[in-house]
Amino acid sequence: MIDDNYKIDFPPDTYAHVLRENLDLSKLEHLLITHGHEDHLYPADLAMRSEPYAHISDAPPLAVYGNAYVLQRIEAALSADELQGVRLQLVEAGRPFTAGAARVTPLTADHLLDKGAFTYLIEHQGRTIFYGLDSGWYPEATWELLRRYRLDMAILDCTHGSLPQERNHMGIEQVIRVKQALLAQGSAGPETVFVADHFSHNGLYPHHQLEAAFSPHGIRVAHDGMTLEI
Ligand SMILES: [Zn+2]
Ligand SMILES: [Zn+2]
Repeated sequence: MIDDNYKIDFPPDTYAHVLRENLDLSKLEHLLITHGHEDHLYPADLAMRSEPYAHISDAPPLAVYGNAYVLQRIEAALSADELQGVRLQLVEAGRPFTAGAARVTPLTADHLLDKGAFTYLIEHQGRTIFYGLDSGWYPEATWELLRRYRLDMAILDCTHGSLPQERNHMGIEQVIRVKQALLAQGSAGPETVFVADHFSHNGLYPHHQLEAAFSPHGIRVAHDGMTLEI
């Protein structure tokens, strides 16, 4: 989440996050969906935004942004009544859009190629965040677009942990190389906060080993409930 009103992705464990972190999703205004995999989009729970579950019908519907497959999955899961609480907006890679006070650009990801997947560049309150998952090594168009920006934060896909992997997801080795490449092309500097995220048991390293691998490279290791200020 960014502040109280922006969120990226909506996994099935969102409800557990709400309880554990004491989140108030009634304040959520903009939901950016990267892609249609279940661990990023669990549309059935979006029904909880509408009457008779939620009683915030005087608030604007939750704006949900995604590609055609994402919107199709949401429409298939919710009834017409349940769709009252959400406003679906189709967005395209490389085409910036306005989400409240933020400017958001979807970027092409190397992931779920037949249905499409985005990473997101979010400009908000003078800060620029690159949300870079899920993706393998970023496609050339994404590098090209990032070249025009100086990032305050980059959140990168490290699903494969200790195992090297170029396509679909990345591992430690690739995340370090992405950082080096972003620095080399001027998209990042010493002030940029780097975070590795989206770990899987298949990557073999638990948190302390990820910390040991990343700390010499100035990359933070995400964990549940992590809060960062930029
Ligand atoms: Zn995925
Ligand atoms: Zn994922």
